[in-house]
Amino acid sequence: ETRLGRAAVRTICPYCGVGCGVLASPDGAGGAAIEGDEAHPSNFGRLCSKGSALGETLGLETRQLYPVVRGARATWDAALDHVASNIGRIIAEHGPDAVAFYLSGQLLTEDYYVANKLMKGFIGSANVDTNSRLCMSSSVAGHKRAFGSDTVPGCYEDLDEADLLVLTGSNAAWCHPVLFQRMAKAQERRGARLVTIDPRRTATSEAASLHLSVAPGRDGTLFSGLLVQLADRGHVDETFVNSHTEGFTEALARARQIAPTIAATAAAARLSERDVEEFFDLWISTERVVTLYSQGVNQSSQGADKVSAILNCHLAAGRIGREGMGPFSLTGQPNAMGGREVGGLANQLAAHMGFSPADIDRVRRFWNAPNMAVREGLKAVDLFEAIGRGEVKALWVIGTNPAVSLPDVNRVRAALGKLELFVVSENVRSNDTLRAGAHVILPAAAWGEKDGTVTNSERRISRQRPFLPLPGEARPDWWAVAQAARRLGFAGFEFNNVSEIFAEHAALSGFENDGARDFDISGLADLKPRDYDSLAPAQWPVRRGEASGRRRLFSDGLFYTASGKARFIPIDPPRLAEATSDRFPFLLNTGRLRDQWHTMTRTGLSPRLGGHSAEPCLSIHPDDAASAGLKDGHLARVASAEGAAIFRVQVTGTQQRGEVFAPIHWSHETSSDSCVGALVHRCVDPESGQPDAKATPVALAPV
Ligand code: SF4
Repeated sequence: ETRLGRAAVRTICPYCGVGCGVLASPDGAGGAAIEGDEAHPSNFGRLCSKGSALGETLGLETRQLYPVVRGARATWDAALDHVASNIGRIIAEHGPDAVAFYLSGQLLTEDYYVANKLMKGFIGSANVDTNSRLCMSSSVAGHKRAFGSDTVPGCYEDLDEADLLVLTGSNAAWCHPVLFQRMAKAQERRGARLVTIDPRRTATSEAASLHLSVAPGRDGTLFSGLLVQLADRGHVDETFVNSHTEGFTEALARARQIAPTIAATAAAARLSERDVEEFFDLWISTERVVTLYSQGVNQSSQGADKVSAILNCHLAAGRIGREGMGPFSLTGQPNAMGGREVGGLANQLAAHMGFSPADIDRVRRFWNAPNMAVREGLKAVDLFEAIGRGEVKALWVIGTNPAVSLPDVNRVRAALGKLELFVVSENVRSNDTLRAGAHVILPAAAWGEKDGTVTNSERRISRQRPFLPLPGEARPDWWAVAQAARRLGFAGFEFNNVSEIFAEHAALSGFENDGARDFDISGLADLKPRDYDSLAPAQWPVRRGEASGRRRLFSDGLFYTASGKARFIPIDPPRLAEATSDRFPFLLNTGRLRDQWHTMTRTGLSPRLGGHSAEPCLSIHPDDAASAGLKDGHLARVASAEGAAIFRVQVTGTQQRGEVFAPIHWSHETSSDSCVGALVHRCVDPESGQPDAKATPVALAPV
């Protein structure tokens, strides 16, 4: 029973990576009352505006409730026959790499597992990528370089126990609100200081005692300067560095080239020497410091290097794996981490394994797989380029809207038109990706109907439980993929329910894992369906024989590299992928608003959420508005080398001169000319493949 007095189902919010526990009390008429779950250890009952409005987004008005093939209603059998026969034909004619899946951090781990298994073990290609590429992949690359594993070392409790919280490239007050409230509590309770590093002044920086309006692309400069100061002031933890790391001398030498002094750091990062000195003093003198980073760091052509620059400082100070300190990657999506656990990125195999001969062989034997992928597949931007060139001929998109969210979306839409087979699993009737010419539409289960698990930013696996019946002919994504696999003639997809999928996934994580791999939940592999259903939130790893998971990793100073030591990484000199020019004199930054999520297919249903920002606006400094002839409240045409879009002008002193900001949420579907993806360039980080969505040169003109 909940405070509302009705029987409630314990589930998880479907939006951000905080992963808040939700109690949903169905009303028997397709709706539900929503409240925070006080027993969930990630939010203790708190919900933000988006989470508390979930009950307003449950109607069936916009739902796709039956399969469609080539524009006509079809049965599931006919649709799946069409999908399987065409995938089989394309493989026979062009090979397995002519087929691809594009998945989503919105999928549950079990959905992800089945899709990844089909593609990488049975079709024989690693062309499975996901919108997590746009969200987290630079952090993944940075973590793997330093730790030898895709590991977030800390937990949310570290935010309660820290004395200094540094948020870089993160507007957590809007994008991870419940976690931000938790940080605010630490400020109150312990007097913890908050520092923000962001070119924009945001709701988050309003709460900070120090805000650094760093120049776009210069986070690496700032943290290189910090590494130099740690060394020069004698604050390197020599014992930790000597015993548990390698590469310090080379990384420090590179940092000295980039940011030799405070004055040089300040000049290169467009900051005052006083502010830089204050930040360095605070960071160096505060043992319990957590440095949190999100899309401002990840969505960059040097995202992996920015992450490495942060990790270098924590390793040098030995501030990792201990209470109240460490680097902390804020996951954008609800299950970006769970997707990676099953290998949802094209450069991963499964259970955090890669494409080494030993890993390929291990997974082959575990799956009894006939056609193992033996090399990495195409990452998101490259995948859609390959579609445009006609090399990838079949694409199955599940639970994401790439015709809005990818960079240079006009090019993406044109590419989609070239596919021989274009399948979309979706729960809404219309969005930009469907309108780009989907040949087959498969009606997917939505939040409230889905059943499975997700993993949040602190490695916590929680059950997302259904509390509404599947409407119409909607089915879970794992079921649709398994049915297609069986029609392709593959054994190993006879799953009856999600608990069987989870058990197989958990068993694979522990298969021949003698502790050399970080991700191991084999302690959950033998759960009975009833135990799976009542599974309490648990932080991985949960190794066989262990009753519960672990809050922190690396407290023993042992890492997952071949030597067992963490690696310092010398970063490249910070620079932007594209400089401004006379033709495109402004830099466009993009990001989220407080009350919308992704392409608004769910949050757009709530009038309350729509009230926060009713239309897409371009934030611009007053001087820039004046020089471009733009007036507050009027319309502006924004153009880049890729395309153009129209936004309402919002003149604000929160922007730096020369920089403008536009939200990511609107699309051709919701606002015909305001899709920011039409503007964003296709520059990616060479290490992670993550697109740079924060610094596209643009021109502005009044409409
Ligand atoms: Fe949902 Fe994130 Fe808000 Fe929590 S903070 S309620 S997970 S959107």
